[in-house]
Amino acid sequence: MTSAPAAAPTARRLEGAPFASEIRDRVAGEVRAYVRDHRHPPGLAVVVCGRSAPSMVYLERILKACAQVGIEGSFVDVEGEDAAAQEAGLTEAIARLNDDPQIAGIIVQMPLPEGVRLKTVVDAIDPLKDIDGIHPLNAGLLRLGYEGFIPATAHAALEMIHRSGVELVGADAVVVGRSPVVGMPLAFMLTKEDATVTVCHSKTRDLAAEVRRADVVVVAAGEPGLVTGAMLKPGAVVIDVGINVVDGKIVGDVVFESAEKVASAITPVPGGVGPLTNALLLSHLMRAAQRQDQAKEHFEA
Ligand code: NAD
Repeated sequence: MTSAPAAAPTARRLEGAPFASEIRDRVAGEVRAYVRDHRHPPGLAVVVCGRSAPSMVYLERILKACAQVGIEGSFVDVEGEDAAAQEAGLTEAIARLNDDPQIAGIIVQMPLPEGVRLKTVVDAIDPLKDIDGIHPLNAGLLRLGYEGFIPATAHAALEMIHRSGVELVGADAVVVGRSPVVGMPLAFMLTKEDATVTVCHSKTRDLAAEVRRADVVVVAAGEPGLVTGAMLKPGAVVIDVGINVVDGKIVGDVVFESAEKVASAITPVPGGVGPLTNALLLSHLMRAAQRQDQAKEHFEA
């Protein structure tokens, strides 16, 4: 008996690199114009506390991306013998960056060391310099559908959905994950674009049943193999935000090999949402720089 031939992939691969490169080119032009007006490049500061291997890789990538477009990237390394000293060091460093006119945007490297209160650190960031949209003011603006800064990863996932060409108005969208930096902001953005959104999480009773109804599936859970091709509606658009290391290899939350045979478009991991995230962060930095100029003009008028 011969077995049936394996189904061929049907999905278009949504690669992040070409889109990221378009964004970097646009930002580089904006940076040149900014330097002509201000005589110095806009600055992006990364605040690091507690060095781990992944956070150092992330830091290097950001600084390299800044250099590519002419943004002045820098980092502040905060030390402290215990959580209280680290927290105080973080808030002091952030306060200095808030007051520094050469710094247009601030990112705080996550996760914070154990015992350091996230809220205290996040609240310290000037919302006008919060280019990764983690301050409660920016989260609130997004919740109400107003313009503010949105988390770059959620922004990247949304841009990928747009790139897929899917019509979002009236579409059923399922977001797997409800974190404040990816799942929830994305759910609000998709709702604003008139999709019917279901947010799934670790307590969702029947994930497969929820995912099977979706025209658009975004997976941001941090669980390799969580979504398979068998769970998808044929023709669904699949955005895999997950980054996991399995046997020394980077994989997403979706089983790509089975999903690409059912989906109409899918982001690979690595190479999908990830490259776009950094490029969008640079574009947020330029928006922050422009908004700070506008705020200054407003107060000086
Ligand atoms: P998180 O741990 O804060 O949140 C994970 C969410 O997934 C939670 O809401 C949880 O309820 C849900 N979840 C976990 N297991 C689940 C399950 N079995 N079924 C349904 N839901 C489940 O993580 P995060 O910060 O939102 O990140 C999510 C993933 O995205 C991680 O893999 C992270 O590495 C990745 N990430 C990627 C980028 C990027 O640029 N591509 C950026 C940030 C995070």
